[in-house]
Amino acid sequence: MNVKHLQDEILKLKSQNDVIILAHYYQPIEIQEIADFLGDSLKLSRTAKEASTEYIIFAGVDFMAETASILNQDKHVLIPNPESCCPMAAFLTPEKVLEFKKNFPKTPTVVYVNSTATVKAESDICCTSANAVNIVKKISKEFEVNKVLFGPDANLGDYAEQFSKIKTIKMPPEGHCYVHSQISIEDIRATKNQYPNAKVLVHPECIREVREFADFVGSTSQMYNRIKNASSDEHEFIIGTEIGLLERMSQDFPDKKYYLAKEKLICYNMKKHNLELIKYLLENLDDKFHEVKVPSEIAKKAIQPIEKMLLYS
Ligand code: SF4
Repeated sequence: MNVKHLQDEILKLKSQNDVIILAHYYQPIEIQEIADFLGDSLKLSRTAKEASTEYIIFAGVDFMAETASILNQDKHVLIPNPESCCPMAAFLTPEKVLEFKKNFPKTPTVVYVNSTATVKAESDICCTSANAVNIVKKISKEFEVNKVLFGPDANLGDYAEQFSKIKTIKMPPEGHCYVHSQISIEDIRATKNQYPNAKVLVHPECIREVREFADFVGSTSQMYNRIKNASSDEHEFIIGTEIGLLERMSQDFPDKKYYLAKEKLICYNMKKHNLELIKYLLENLDDKFHEVKVPSEIAKKAIQPIEKMLLYS
């Protein structure tokens, strides 16, 4: 079955069932095209919370579907490929969080939404790449301290520290996203040399040298909006994030030119979903193998830092 035919089948099945499809910007473009809502993790968390359908199909990685389950305990959250996991989230376990907390008492714990439900359950507040600076400022003020525990992404922690002026103790120091952290200063300089008139946009999960070289640092939604609101004399952009966002922007703003900061900026974990799996799910909404259900005792604890983040954002 070709892509268009599959997409039509999916749209038909979707209209016959009580379901919405949420997709992250890093999803394959053919999945982005059939999603009801598209966005970064914060936007999708909010959308999941407001969802009124019985079923939510989440085309993203495991922690995103878990967040949707935490916020919607009475709904069925389904993930097309249950093996779609985030390696960055795997850098932090609840045991590690408890150890850091023991070593740094009275220090608030900020965890990136790119973390497991059990890790969230041990934290004081969550953050996303869009609001990390603000969250670190607010929670340190609330606790009347000048340092926070921050994990699992050390680069985002460094970025939050740089702009909040609050020390972030990295949980763990080696936590990183393999997609963003692979962009080196040499890569970005070489791409800029090739396209000297292009503005450089990168994600806060990139290393500091790369962030400091960039014209703009922001989450996927912030990058999207930066292009959307670009002035008429800005025609070219170097994109330092996963290729899915570049594909989205090429469709939505085709009058601009986009170049990846380096070749093969692909999150293979995000790309484990496909249209066939989504069609299968729509035909088998009660297939428990695809359901992501965070146990209620963990969800009750994990919802607090998420809600606090939504309140503070
Ligand atoms: S892009 Fe990085 S942070 Fe996002 S899902 Fe992939 S590995 Fe995880």
